[in-house]
Amino acid sequence: MEPLTNLSVIKDLLARHGFSFSKSLGQNFIVNPSVCPRISQLGGAAPGVGVIEIGAGIGVLTAQLAQDGEKVVCIEIDSRLLPILDETLAPYSNVTIVNQDVLKVDLHQLIRDQFPGMEVVVCANLPYYITSPILMKLLEDRLPIRSITVMVQKEAAQRICARPGSREAGAISAAIRYYSEPQVLFHVSRGSFLPAPQVDSTVIRLDILPQPAVAVREERLYFEGVRAAFSQRRKTVHNALAAYFGRPKDWAAQVLAQAGIPPLARAEQLTVEQFAALADALAGAGLSQGET
Ligand code: SAM
Repeated sequence: MEPLTNLSVIKDLLARHGFSFSKSLGQNFIVNPSVCPRISQLGGAAPGVGVIEIGAGIGVLTAQLAQDGEKVVCIEIDSRLLPILDETLAPYSNVTIVNQDVLKVDLHQLIRDQFPGMEVVVCANLPYYITSPILMKLLEDRLPIRSITVMVQKEAAQRICARPGSREAGAISAAIRYYSEPQVLFHVSRGSFLPAPQVDSTVIRLDILPQPAVAVREERLYFEGVRAAFSQRRKTVHNALAAYFGRPKDWAAQVLAQAGIPPLARAEQLTVEQFAALADALAGAGLSQGET
């Protein structure tokens, strides 16, 4: 079969199926032949390893993962792609396409049903409009997976991989580091896609930690504290906490003192350990289950 990165092959395929790209579904398909082998290899697709992919497109990455991995389950929301995938993935008997919104799939059950006893990794060129919700679902669901290797918008990669306490850090950095160790793998220029997006991309890998990075009394309050601290980015954490929880500034000052956080600190200056201390101080300040 002709490579699925060949432009005339793709155009012929799409024309025969009367397919037009959906911008709102983030459909930018990989046409640079060097990208998929690197995602697959660095993402850990190998004999004995089960792979979950999100968003098949015409199946260019799916085919690579099927060649390298033991078994691939790909979740694709757009049913217009199914007849195309029937054709492009016909040579691979180890691929299953699930035609659903990834945010609505019970991934625990999918892993139990499809990958019994197998090591599992996630590899994907993500639809950029829902990068954060997808990553947070994959992490918060505490799936039995080894790593998540995904292509995302370059700026999103910088925020996701930023170390909390550094200038680029955002709420997503603190959330990601709770569950995983992120790293930048390689950059991909906008010309590597059809249609070419307005932005460049970066492939990152999140290695899942065996235990969360920090221990907290109530996990929910770690994420609530992160959200609150970053809710008013140009203000101090002190002001942001008071506004977010609708409490007096004295209350916020006490919480911060309890957590050992300087009163004038800003959210991007806080480390994962300080967010953990904030979570425990919030638990001690009457924000336990059901009180926020
Ligand atoms: N993997 C292909 C590639 O690299 O060429 C396609 C990647 S494209 C950036 C993203 C894919 O995700 C599209 O095929 C799109 O239809 C699909 N998609 C968008 N939103 C989705 C969702 N909520 N659940 C599952 N798939 C989704």
